Amino acid sequence: MACVDKVKPGDTFKVKTNDCFFGQITSEAQDIHAIDMSKVNPATGPIYVEGAEQGDLLKVEVLDIEVDSQGVACILPGEGLLENRVAKPHIRVMPVKDGRVQFGDLLIPIKPMIGVIGLAPSHAEGEWPTDTPWKHGGNMDTTDIAKGSALFLPVSQRGALLALGDCHALMGDGEVGVSGCEIAAEVTLRVDLIKGKAASWPLLETGDYTMVIASGDTLEEATFNAVDETVKYLQKALALSWEDAYILSSLVVDIKINQVVNPKKTVRAAIPKSLIKTDLIINSI
Ligand code: CA
Ligand code: CA
Repeated sequence: MACVDKVKPGDTFKVKTNDCFFGQITSEAQDIHAIDMSKVNPATGPIYVEGAEQGDLLKVEVLDIEVDSQGVACILPGEGLLENRVAKPHIRVMPVKDGRVQFGDLLIPIKPMIGVIGLAPSHAEGEWPTDTPWKHGGNMDTTDIAKGSALFLPVSQRGALLALGDCHALMGDGEVGVSGCEIAAEVTLRVDLIKGKAASWPLLETGDYTMVIASGDTLEEATFNAVDETVKYLQKALALSWEDAYILSSLVVDIKINQVVNPKKTVRAAIPKSLIKTDLIINSI
């Protein structure tokens, strides 16, 4: 496979990603405050997608995530959900072997996922650091952005300008302690272009669900944004009144927490594919 930074719709390619610490943490004895914070949360890219224009939707299929042989997780004062209970930084370095993370005596099956993935934001939205999730994607820390899923990202600039990083060998929904099992990876993707479908927030197709991924300053705001968008999809795709679509969302849509630890919080509203197929939702945009 040739080394490129420009791809065409339909192309399959591999992306090498650093861990979120840019490989700077390799020992549990290290001083986490001594690392270069300007290098934290790197994303590999941008990858230019030929033909992508503002108002399109970029489909990114995750075909595989091969993780490295060692991951790292940490907690530190002032970070994470229990930030005030953490007296001093604490690092765990974990071997990853034969599909399992070794945490002390525990061997835990890996569940590789991509933490940061997004496109260049619109000029109107301005610049977004890679630690913050928003409409362009970014640090969404979504356990379902994993092998077999397809992400749909709104294109805001010519070429889409895809970038990704921050893979985890393992992460629980919420990412409560501020890190997953942070790890370098090689990600195999296939991109495709859906012309003229301008979604407001990223969409994700998994085996059973179509998910709207939305963020906000609080979990409530993130949930509002996700449900507001979901109701519009149900209304249009199923030709319902707004009122019926809202009632239906209350009956069948599951809210799942992505993360509660980033500068903005992220949730996903999961619409069962048994009720409505992803294609129908996207066609309704
Ligand atoms: Ca992250
Ligand atoms: Ca991470």
